[in-house]
Amino acid sequence: MRATIVAMAAMLVLYAVWQLLDPLPGQRWLYGDVFFYPVAAMGSWTAWGAARRTRADARIGRAWLLLGAASVSYLCGDVAQTIYELHGDKPYPSAGDVFYLAFYPLVLLAMVSFPSPRRTAGERARLFVDLAVVAIGGSTVVVYVVLGPTAVAGGENFVQTVFSIAYPSGDMVLLVALAMVLLGRAPASSRTALLVFAAGLAFFVLADLIYGYQTLHANYESGDPVGSLWMVALALFAIAAAAQLPIDKREASAVGGRQQPSVLPYFAVAIAFALLVYSERKDNVFPALTLHVIAVLLAVLVSVRQYLAQKELLRAQGELTHQSLHDALTGLPNRTLVFDRAAHLLARARRTRDRIAVLYVDLDRFKEINDTFGHPAGDEMLAVVARRLASVARPGDTVGRIGGDEFVLLLEEVTTDAGPELVAERVLEVLAQPIDLRAAGERQPVITASVGIAVGDGGAAEDLLRDADVALYAAKCAGRGRYAVFESEMQTVARERLELGLDLRDALTRDEFQLVYQPIVELDSGDVTGIEALIRWRHPKKGTVAPDAFIPLAEETGMILPIGGWVLRAACVQAARWRRQDHDIDLFVNVSVVQLEQDVLLSQVREALKLSGLAPGALMLEITETGLMRDAEAVAARLCDLKELGVRIAIDDFGTGYSSLAYLAQFPVDALKIDRSFVSGIAAADGSGEALVHTLIQLGKALGLHTLGEGIEDEDQLVQLRRERCDSGQGFLFSKPLAVPDVELLLERGERALPSELAIFAR
Ligand code: C2E
Ligand code: CA
Ligand code: CA
Repeated sequence: MRATIVAMAAMLVLYAVWQLLDPLPGQRWLYGDVFFYPVAAMGSWTAWGAARRTRADARIGRAWLLLGAASVSYLCGDVAQTIYELHGDKPYPSAGDVFYLAFYPLVLLAMVSFPSPRRTAGERARLFVDLAVVAIGGSTVVVYVVLGPTAVAGGENFVQTVFSIAYPSGDMVLLVALAMVLLGRAPASSRTALLVFAAGLAFFVLADLIYGYQTLHANYESGDPVGSLWMVALALFAIAAAAQLPIDKREASAVGGRQQPSVLPYFAVAIAFALLVYSERKDNVFPALTLHVIAVLLAVLVSVRQYLAQKELLRAQGELTHQSLHDALTGLPNRTLVFDRAAHLLARARRTRDRIAVLYVDLDRFKEINDTFGHPAGDEMLAVVARRLASVARPGDTVGRIGGDEFVLLLEEVTTDAGPELVAERVLEVLAQPIDLRAAGERQPVITASVGIAVGDGGAAEDLLRDADVALYAAKCAGRGRYAVFESEMQTVARERLELGLDLRDALTRDEFQLVYQPIVELDSGDVTGIEALIRWRHPKKGTVAPDAFIPLAEETGMILPIGGWVLRAACVQAARWRRQDHDIDLFVNVSVVQLEQDVLLSQVREALKLSGLAPGALMLEITETGLMRDAEAVAARLCDLKELGVRIAIDDFGTGYSSLAYLAQFPVDALKIDRSFVSGIAAADGSGEALVHTLIQLGKALGLHTLGEGIEDEDQLVQLRRERCDSGQGFLFSKPLAVPDVELLLERGERALPSELAIFAR
């Protein structure tokens, strides 16, 4: 492009110098034509290049070919003109005129061929009005300055008259083409090229008009300075073509560009004024009325155009506001709007003494839906949830989505105390229905939600929503799939939890964790055959904190990863020491599914085994059933990797996780630890507890697994489990979890020492 600019500038300078020096007086026509050859030729050449660069988009390529053809046509016209001048006779019209005239429709065709963006109906209407303004305003000027007088003057014959009128008519065509370039939103790769081209067109029309005017008054001669305007125009065409950027396949036909402010209305107003002034002039050959009508027409068009533009703007603004306040996926109000509405409702509630309620709805384990069925299914589910929530709301209530799987219901004018609770129950009910998801195929995922409720009659929206969030948290802790109403104590609980989380971060470095060990007894013999490591946190202020109070928190914060690693190392080192002292016991260690999911468990186990020298076969990893079910397939694969190390795997809290048999068989597990709730249910009067334990043990046996009963507290339970031929057991009946010295005492006394105190083993 730079080369083209330099070449064109050089030609223009040369032309100007020639004009000034005028070395061949009387032969002006010669350079009037000849200087145009290289410029027009260059234009054809660069247009050809542009066409090649834009082949990927047929329409743009075609446009440049047409523009190239226009340049060629102009060149031919010039050559013809030279030949006539050389022969000294200048017929009018001549073949040269035919070539010159072909230039105009070719340019128009090219402009039409340029792709334009998809427009809305409003945009189309405005474009139409704009083009009308240009056509009417522009052509009025052309008609008054040149076309009209030319037509009135007439030629020597009909053909001459037609040709004389054809030129200014061509200019009107170019004006429309110019408007199309300036109004159309060009593809990014053509933007500069088209702007330069528009400048060229402007010069061209200007030259034509001056030329027409001069000819009319019979004072034009070939080679006159006005000719330099055409040359500038042709040079700009050449530069424009050179400025066209290449298009690759990807961006082909992607039309875009920003909308530019338009000067068109001012142009139209200026012309309307000019017409009014002109109509008063003496030399005006046209009826004043026509001019007035055109002026009024232009004014009307400008008004229509401004109206359309404003409407468009308002619509776009409205859309933007909507977008910024609504969630794209569900169309529900977003966090900003929800907070805003809550603030409004609260402000009104202060005056009317009404109460408003916030229901904070959070889907339970939504991440699992995403993991199992994929994100499209997750998105679909959110949309369904949004619809169902909206169906629960009354008119006037607001349903919003304020985060990933978090929704809020704002209830206006809560009258009865139970109002929000009833709505919460409805929410839980409608969400519990199975959901048909296209992305999930045949499977119908079920989702539950937890709901936190807060009621207020004033105060800040932030506070009310935070209270609902705290209540939501309480509902989650209470086991999910339920609602909880905010109480001020919850606030304390939430704060304590926050503090606990902070303390937890430092607990490892401050060496505040400790392991206790609970013996596992073979039910047949009463021998202690294993020991389960259980973590304790010696909190500097709170004393001993039970794992149930901090393990879930550690799992949420990710602290479970280093903590779990420490448990494995400490337990393995301890168990290896006991085994070296000839106590043949297995070590049971609880691991969190988070360790498994984050893919750290394998390396942690390997490290602990290496550090301690513990035989892999002596290590039993306990993973809770609910943990296993979270992402069953991935978990199964990782368990296989673990088993290759030689360690064994037990399902902890078995019976609480609703795992299907199909899944169970797929996990490479060795033992089932039957949950305490079943063991303590054995005493049920109707025998249902016994039946359940029976079934669970039989299931384990059918799968060839070791069975273990947890939480054995009394002899009846022990008797029953022995009757069912459960392999081993654990519970307060045998021993509470013990500190290391107590374990050692127990082991020193011999493996049978502890259970043999029970009469049942003596029998
Ligand atoms: P769990 O794995 O089911 O461990 C058994 C829990 O039941 C222990 O509570 C134990 O003290 C208690 N228990 C044992 N026998 C009886 C009995 O006869 N009656 C009653 N009522 N309870 C009995 P603990 O130590 O408070 O642990 C609670 C849970 O915390 C564990 O349940 C386990 O899921 C988790 N946990 C403990 N230590 C760790 C650990 O190092 N890592 C991980 N990830 N989780 C751990
Ligand atoms: Ca356990
Ligand atoms: Ca358990």
